[in-house]
Amino acid sequence: MSNLCDLQFDRNHLWHPYTSTTNPLPCYGVVAAKDVYLELDNGAQLVDGMSSWWAAIHGYNHPKLNQAAHQQIESMSHVMFGGITHPAAIALGKKLIAMTPARFQHLFLADSGSVAVEVALKMALQYWQAKGESRCQFLTLRHGYHGDTFAAMSVTDPDNSMHKLYKGFLPEHLFANSPTSRFDGDWQPSDLDDFSAQLATHHSKIAAVILEPIVQGAGGMRIYHPEFLRGVRRLCDDYGILLIADEIATGFGRTGKLFACEHSGIEADILCLGKALTGGYITLSATLTTSDVAHTVSGGSAGCFMHGPTFMGNPLACAVACASLDILEKNEWQAQVQQIEHMFARHLPALLKSAHVADVRWLGAIGVVELKYPVNMAQIQQHFVEQGVWIRPFGKLIYLMPPYIISQAACLQLINAIASAIAEPRNLQLPQSELAQA
Ligand SMILES: *Cc1c(COP(=O)(O)O)cnc(C)c1O
Repeated sequence: MSNLCDLQFDRNHLWHPYTSTTNPLPCYGVVAAKDVYLELDNGAQLVDGMSSWWAAIHGYNHPKLNQAAHQQIESMSHVMFGGITHPAAIALGKKLIAMTPARFQHLFLADSGSVAVEVALKMALQYWQAKGESRCQFLTLRHGYHGDTFAAMSVTDPDNSMHKLYKGFLPEHLFANSPTSRFDGDWQPSDLDDFSAQLATHHSKIAAVILEPIVQGAGGMRIYHPEFLRGVRRLCDDYGILLIADEIATGFGRTGKLFACEHSGIEADILCLGKALTGGYITLSATLTTSDVAHTVSGGSAGCFMHGPTFMGNPLACAVACASLDILEKNEWQAQVQQIEHMFARHLPALLKSAHVADVRWLGAIGVVELKYPVNMAQIQQHFVEQGVWIRPFGKLIYLMPPYIISQAACLQLINAIASAIAEPRNLQLPQSELAQA
């Protein structure tokens, strides 16, 4: 079985996300996936706690998504989008416009979340150019994450990301303190002080505010108070600045609402979607905007919006996305996400008893255990695999975002695996003083 995955070749030649070629951590070979299970090349079945980075919300190998892909591939898997359209893109456009706030009337289909962010930023820049104003700055939040391409990186947290590495090349934007008021906690109005001060000083140069509504994902898994987002919307309105909501991680039910902005009852001017859009099958993203933004952009000197990826509107991806949205439209996700949230609420607080745990938090189908020390990645990964689960921590954060279809028993298996992992000192990078006691 294990020759299904030539791990030695992989180790010598294939780059994985954020990995070294000289000192790569071990990789696990996955040969199949079904429902909430990943099958390793040695036959082991792992409960998936990651949904392949927020994406596989309905689980793997879903009959409806498979059927949509098969059907589409029989007619055409791809055709250029320049001067040509096709039923799958039109059907997807209708669904996305119907399921998002009424103000979103125009959408751009691209290949990945990072590109959806690039597109959003370009829309904002072209919008102000068309209005005859030179506005080239973006205001965003610390601890944010918006992707790995250059413009997306430039609005990603400046301290815990790639800013230092690419200094001199990355454009420098404005960062406001991220909110500290917890989702369910008391609202501290001072959370908005830095944000509003930056707007007051720089508003005439700012094209747009970009942020992740309610949950800051890869920049720290922070879950913040809905009032902050209402304040941001109000301030953007006061200064006439566009608001870009990056719902690439939070979109399609993950936080318990279809879109995280709903927790605050606000609507953005530009909305970025990706990750779960195709139920985790194929890469696809969408950037939606209002007629005001779209038509203003089109009235500028270029006379159009200047972006056009080769695989724009890929029919295979659009067809699978339609099938994924059909599943969401049945509305079973709400009860499923609620059940996961109940599991987190019931079992995560007990983890605070560990001396190594700094905080636990959860919202919808997102559960976070923040440690006092970073994990020992190779060790803890091995521990999780031995426990029959797939959980991929980063730094001090162990987090869960399982497929919505997960059973209570499998969800408990994920939580128990975290509990047992943090009980073993070798899974964490403990300082010497703690090791002596352990
Ligand atoms: C993952 C993510 C992106 C980038 O998406 P890719 O598909 O990896 O390019 C952008 N914004 C947020 C909030 C994300 O979680």
